[in-house]
Amino acid sequence: MNLEMLNTPQREAVEHTEGPLLILAGAGSGKTRVLTHRTAYLIEELGVNPYHIMAITFTNKAAGEMRERIDDMVGYGSESIWVTTFHSTCVRILRRYIDRLGYGTNFTIYDADDQKTLMKEICKRLEIDTKIYKEKMFLSVISSAKDELIDPIEFTTRAAGDYNKRRQADVYREYQAELKKNNALDFDDLIFKTVELFKLNKDVLDSYQERFRYIMVDEYQDTNTAQFELIRLLAMKYKNLCVVGDDDQSIYKFRGANIYNILNFEKHFPDAKVIKLEQNYRSTQNILDAANSVIANNVGRKEKSLWTDNGRGDKITFEQLDSAYEEADYVARDIAGKVRRGEYTYHDCAVLYRTNAQSRLFEERFINSNIPYKIVGGVNFYARREIKDLLAYLKTIDNGRDDLAVKRIINVPKRGIGAASLAKVSDYAAEKEMDFYQALRWADEIPGIGRAAAKIKPFVLFIQSMKARAENGSISELLQKIIEETGYVAELEAEGTDEAQSRIENIDEFMSKVVSYEEGTDEPTLSGFLEEVALVADIDGLDDNSDYVVLMTLHSAKGLEFPNVYLAGMEDGLFPSYMSITADNSDQEIEEERRLAYVGITRAKEHLTITSARMRMVRGQTQYGAVSRFVKEIPSELLKGEIYEPKNYHDEPMQESTYQKARKAFRSTPVSYGSRTPQYTPVTNQRSFESSNTTGAALSYQVGDRVRHMKFGDGEVKAIVAGGRDYEVTVDFDKAGTKKMFSSFAKLKKI
Ligand code: ATP
Ligand code: MG
Repeated sequence: MNLEMLNTPQREAVEHTEGPLLILAGAGSGKTRVLTHRTAYLIEELGVNPYHIMAITFTNKAAGEMRERIDDMVGYGSESIWVTTFHSTCVRILRRYIDRLGYGTNFTIYDADDQKTLMKEICKRLEIDTKIYKEKMFLSVISSAKDELIDPIEFTTRAAGDYNKRRQADVYREYQAELKKNNALDFDDLIFKTVELFKLNKDVLDSYQERFRYIMVDEYQDTNTAQFELIRLLAMKYKNLCVVGDDDQSIYKFRGANIYNILNFEKHFPDAKVIKLEQNYRSTQNILDAANSVIANNVGRKEKSLWTDNGRGDKITFEQLDSAYEEADYVARDIAGKVRRGEYTYHDCAVLYRTNAQSRLFEERFINSNIPYKIVGGVNFYARREIKDLLAYLKTIDNGRDDLAVKRIINVPKRGIGAASLAKVSDYAAEKEMDFYQALRWADEIPGIGRAAAKIKPFVLFIQSMKARAENGSISELLQKIIEETGYVAELEAEGTDEAQSRIENIDEFMSKVVSYEEGTDEPTLSGFLEEVALVADIDGLDDNSDYVVLMTLHSAKGLEFPNVYLAGMEDGLFPSYMSITADNSDQEIEEERRLAYVGITRAKEHLTITSARMRMVRGQTQYGAVSRFVKEIPSELLKGEIYEPKNYHDEPMQESTYQKARKAFRSTPVSYGSRTPQYTPVTNQRSFESSNTTGAALSYQVGDRVRHMKFGDGEVKAIVAGGRDYEVTVDFDKAGTKKMFSSFAKLKKI
């Protein structure tokens, strides 16, 4: 095997095969590469049977890529190596042995919907008022408990005298009992139960310890307590555990990732060897410098210094567009131009964003410009369940001729109309040669339909009243009404999972689409809108083409790399998210967002383009975001492009009029989706900031003064500009060079 392909510390890591090993290194330094080479080395040089090797990672995509790299290197025999995700590892083990825990090996795995249904039943049975104690709260409490390996008994003990906790314990106990009765596991159970299986059955544990003599874990910084315990148990006998990770890329705290697993690895495995990799092979120096200067703003991290041989490379393009629409247009044109000039193929390009909902505008632009694309780890915008549901409502209201659309929503929300009754309606429609919806209107006449007719009637009445509304009102009001009357968003809110949250964001985005259609069309009509959407909604046959641009969230981009990357929507309030800015523990939340920014920047090999929009429609309302603080943390000499921020957004007549127009189009503002807070501070807050801003008024230094910064040392203040929500101060530091920073974050002291 050729170890020439590795640098010295990488080679050292490959050759250190016995005993615990931690590889702690920054992005693009070859961590994953070490794992694949190590696997080949074990087999080819040490003659280890591939059967004894296991490589674990987080996402299916990452596991797939690792599998490919290993197959290429190892060839024959590589199929018996376990290269999988945590969850599929556990499913495989449980399918074999879960009968030891009293479950059948043909257990079912409950998804979020199933969990919710079950939780509803339990709350009902325990007579819990779900207006006060939400199902989602119980589900998330249980999920966190399972991540921490706390079972219902332990949970009850810890609840002690706390009334609320005792109630949660009751629910947890009941939920778990019910799962077992149904021979079902939820997602968190997969890991929890495998750990339990190993703890209670030494023989089973022993057989897997014998099997997996060499264990490797990629993206170790994102393991939670249960996953850690699983690995610890498996590795306990032979101790040949190699974990690789980067504490700066830990981005799953919200799913229980425990960063101390990596920070305390040496404590858990006292004789562990630690190897650091410092050479980055992926990116240019400019991209690395940008990533390093952003992440340097996080406190309490393990210092790392990444360098590269790849040369300075291009500057990072920063482009601030007037609207999110123009942002998508800019990216589409830029990609088309680069491909036309032969600089890149589509496949070289990736567009990364903070929330799934942002894909919509890009998809539309790409379809219009004939740019092939694929959404990774997600579904095309108009193919998403919630969007299809709402479109089906609009189609039914528009003309009711699309039987599929009507059938899609007849029981959304649940109206208790059974399959047998629906079959009777279908038969009747066929016999009378009418549409399904027409048949519903004649429900009373349908033979044998019985009591179902009474359940069908309210649906028909609702559609009819919406038809009347559609004739007189705007489409945005109509959509808003549908959302309210069906309780669609309210139900998602009650669910409270990440998935539900992302569906709500998609619905908000759909609302923005409606409003922008209304604004951009002389005579907007419901049919016109549906036609326009159909042009982009029905195209999803791009998969046979392997040359496509990928669109994905920053979370799914972890571990991947592309020559030409776009980081879109870099605005305060979107990224970092509004929730992180306003959270009680905002400092920590923003650090997590900053790690995500670091992940994003370091995906780029050659060219990075950062874009932001001055205004963006959110839930049909135009809102304004200042350029993301993360962009401002990048030294300006690395950027091509200016950050322009008007002193006061109110002074911009064009923007204000659009804002008012959107308000008018959407009079029932703010859209009330329960307790959800708006994603952005609306424009009026810019003003209240100016007047209530004590930081700015009380700045203890001015241009020309010498100041001290905790990290960057001493320097001279070059400029102070009121921008966004804060004062932006430019300081020429003696050692660290010129930096732009927000006064409230920088905590500069006059010296
Ligand atoms: P991330 O933190 O993003 O997961 P990583 O540390 O896992 O990154 P890899 O994906 O393994 O990094 O490597 C980044 C790129 O650098 C890959 O294209 C890889 O092939 C290349 N690379 C790594 N080490 C070397 C080396 N010694 N010589 C040449 N190329 C290398
Ligand atoms: Mg990697």
